[in-house]
This record gives sequence, structure tokens and C-alpha cells, in this order.
Amino acid sequence: MTHATKLSRVITRLRNVWSHGYSLRWALILRVLLPLLVAMSLVTVVGLRTMEQAIETRMQEDVELVARAIRLPISDSLEKGEDASVRQALESVFRIGRVYGAYVYDDSGDLVAAVGAVNPTPESRELAERAADGERSGDFEQIQGQEVYSYFEPLTDSSGRISGLLQVTRRGSDFRDDIGRMRLQAFAFIGAAGVAISLLLLVGHRGAIGRHLASLAGSMSRIEAGEREHRASAEGPKEVRSLSTAFNTMLNSMEEAEQEIAQRRSEQARLEDELRHAEKLAAIGRLAAGVAHELGTPLSVIDGKAQRALRHADADSRQERSLEQIRAEVTRMEHIVRQLLEFARTSSRQFRWTRLGDLVGASLASLEDRLRELGAAVVVRGETPGPELYVDPVRIEQVLVNLMRNALQAGARQITVNWDDADPVTVTIDDNGPGVPEEIRPRLFEPFFTTKSVGDGTGLGLAVVHGIITEHGGAIAIGVSPDEGARFTLTLPREARPESEQIKGHDHG
Ligand code: ADP
Repeated sequence: MTHATKLSRVITRLRNVWSHGYSLRWALILRVLLPLLVAMSLVTVVGLRTMEQAIETRMQEDVELVARAIRLPISDSLEKGEDASVRQALESVFRIGRVYGAYVYDDSGDLVAAVGAVNPTPESRELAERAADGERSGDFEQIQGQEVYSYFEPLTDSSGRISGLLQVTRRGSDFRDDIGRMRLQAFAFIGAAGVAISLLLLVGHRGAIGRHLASLAGSMSRIEAGEREHRASAEGPKEVRSLSTAFNTMLNSMEEAEQEIAQRRSEQARLEDELRHAEKLAAIGRLAAGVAHELGTPLSVIDGKAQRALRHADADSRQERSLEQIRAEVTRMEHIVRQLLEFARTSSRQFRWTRLGDLVGASLASLEDRLRELGAAVVVRGETPGPELYVDPVRIEQVLVNLMRNALQAGARQITVNWDDADPVTVTIDDNGPGVPEEIRPRLFEPFFTTKSVGDGTGLGLAVVHGIITEHGGAIAIGVSPDEGARFTLTLPREARPESEQIKGHDHG
């Protein structure tokens, strides 16, 4: 990779960071790591400077101590004029400490003795002045191109008079070597510490937060990709956990809201279906009422004419049989017309408080002949007289008759009627017939739905039953009896409100 492409990559990356915001790792680096490293470096630099000064002072003191240690013997020897002793004393400096050179001058600034590698060449006058000063002093200076630290100690004779000057030097590089080593160590240490801290911080960041945030982000993208059931796992530090929990809660409430919407939608669809069904029934009802009404008069005319003709016909003649047949068919047609009118609910309703037991009794009475004819039996299980209901007794009786007649027509020979004492009252009518096949159950209450052959059934019986029960605010359901026959279950509120009242009640509500 060339430098240009590397650079352009870095620039793109920076631009991304600029436009999309920087990552948590970058935030840590910029806001925590960098300041920390800068602070560490500052502390180190300041510390180093202090230590360097301390070392320098200590080294200068070393030189001073060395000078002071040999001052007295040298002063003594100088006073006595023993040059060899001066030299000897001077040489002992190498045993005491690390020095570069040591020199003794007399009070006029002339060199008396010297030890060490390089001879300094200070001005005699200057040295004489220094000696006359009687002050100790130390300085960095250049001696033959070498930087040295020179310390001057005035020498005095026994009477306290200045008798000369002692100079002890130490190589400047001695100082700088030590300091340089120390600096190197300090910078190596700070560098290593910086790298270690950075690594610890980045690894720690990944373990403590980065990993969990990445898993949360992963969860988000999985959900975005369509895994709607997926939930973020609540792990990691408290803040990340509460983020995950909040995220999950949000998802749950979204799901709940969606479910609710779906439920409402299906409920609405169901209501629309019901409405359509009711509209269809109403239309059929109007048609049925119209047809029945129109057929009523011609049928009674036909019946009247047949009756009259019958009076004039010879007994047992073919004509009489035909007329009897006509009358029988007319009766059947009138029955159909009645059913149609019933379905169209043209007759007025009369609600009264009535005992359920009485209603069942009345319906049994009207089926008595049929039952005897077929040798069938009806067992009444419910407790008589049974609960009191506010209903249209004629119509509820018709419901019971229709249901029981259907059972007999289906071939049942035992019918069991039962009810409870609750509100709404549940009435069950079980038979031991063949039962109703599962596949036709949904269509059972539709008008004109019949399995009987043409002429035998109109398919209006259960439609009428359904209409009456709904009108009473109740419900009807089809099931299976204990004998594997049919079971019709009616639920009726104790006090049914006639439709007109229901509408009124609706207005108030
Ligand atoms: P219809 O009796 O004129 O056919 P219904 O509406 O009374 O009309 O009945 C519709 C259909 O329901 C019947 O044709 C019959 O197949 C079925 N059915 C009704 N009651 C029973 C029952 N107790 N056992 C078996 N099938 C029944």
C-alpha cells in the first residue's frame, strides 16, 4: 500500500468519524487515554527535573565534601612548605570520591600542585582574586574542551590568613551520564506504562461495555432483519442491562399493540361479516314475506275451491282422491308460507314472565301425536317449574318444537331436555339420532339450508330458531350429545329485552 492510499484511508476514516460520530473506543482514547497519558508525561517531566536538580546538587556536594576533607592537611602542608605532602594529600582525593582533577594554588594564584588528567589554565589573577575573596564557590566551566564542574575552597594558615586556593573538578559528563540514564529509564517506564494502560483500557472497555453494546446492536439488526421474536439478552453492566430491558419492553409493547390491532381488525371483519349476513337475512326476509303474503290468498282460494268441488264429487272416485291430494298439498304450502312469515317475523311479539318448565310442557303437548306415532320419548331433566323468563312464550315454544321436530325427523327416538338455574339460562336438547356432520354445522342456521329432499324440508326451521333466540338476546350452538346424536345448546338471558327496548337502551347507553 502506498503512502497516498494509506493517507486517503485515514482521511476517509476521520471523515466517517466526523460525519457519523466517533465510536466509544475513540471516545475513550480521546477523552480518557490521551489526557491520562499527557498528565502522566507532565508528572514524569516535572519529577525528572526535580530529581535531576537533586542529583546535580548531590554531586556538587560530593565534590565540596571531598574538597573540605583535604583542605586542612593541604593548608597545613602548604604552610610548612612541604610540597610533597601537598601532592600526597591532593592525590588522596581519588580515594575519597569520583573527581576529575584537583589543584592547589598559592595566594598569588600560581599552581603549586596538580593531580588529574587535564590541567586547567585559569588566569592567575583571577585565581588570586578568588582566593582573596575567601569564599567557597562552584561553577561549570570548560577546561580544554571538556565541561567540568569546578569547586574552589580557600585555604587558610594557622593564623586564619588566606594562604591559597584548592580547586576540585568533576567531569560534567559524570552528571549528564547519570541524568541521561535516569531520563532514559523514566521515559522507558512511562512508555511501557502508557502501552500497558492503553491495552488494559481497550481490552477492559471491550470486556466491560464494548462486547455488551455489540451484542445489543447485533440484536437490533437481527430484529431489523425480520426476526421479530428475538429479544436482547440482559447482560453486562447495569446501564447496558437497563438499555436491553428497555429495548425488550419496547419490542413487547410494540408486539402487543400489533396484536391488538390485528385482533381489532379481525373483530371488525367479523362484525362486517355479521352485518352482511344480517343484511342478507333481512333481504331474504322481505322477499319471503312478500312471496308468502302474495301466496296466502291464492292458496286459500284454491283450498276453498277444492273443498267446494269435493262436496260435489263422488265418494271414492278418482276425482275425490285428486281433490284430497290438492288439499294436502295446499296445506303443505300453507305450512311453508307460515314458516316463511315466521322467518320474516311479521307477527307481533308479546313478552311475558313465563316458567321455562311450562314452555317445555306446551311444546311437548303440541308434539304429543307425533311422539306417540313414532314411539319416541322425551325425557325432561330440568327441575320444574324451572326459572322464570321474560320472553315471548309462543316463539320460544316454537323454538323448542322446531328443535325437537328436527330430532324426530333425523330419526331420533329419545330426546332429553335439560336446563340449569343460572342467568343466562342454559337449555340443552340432546337426541340419539345420527347427529350433524361437522362440515355442515357452519351452514345449519342459514335460511333454506336443508339436507332433506325437495318437498320434505324448507331449510327454514333452524333459521327461524336462530332468529328468535337472537331476538331474545340469547345464543344457540350445535354440538354432540352423549348418545353421539345432536345437541343444541341455547343460552337465554332471564330477562330478554324486546328489540324495540334494546334499541332504546342502546340510545341511552
Ligand atoms: P329442515 O328441517 O327443513 O331441513 P332446518 O333448518 O330445520 O330445515 O334444518 C336444517 C338441517 O339441519 C336439516 O336438513 C338437517 O340436516 C339438520 N338437522 C337439524 N336438526 C338436526 C338433528 N337433531 N339431527 C340431525 N340433523 C339435524
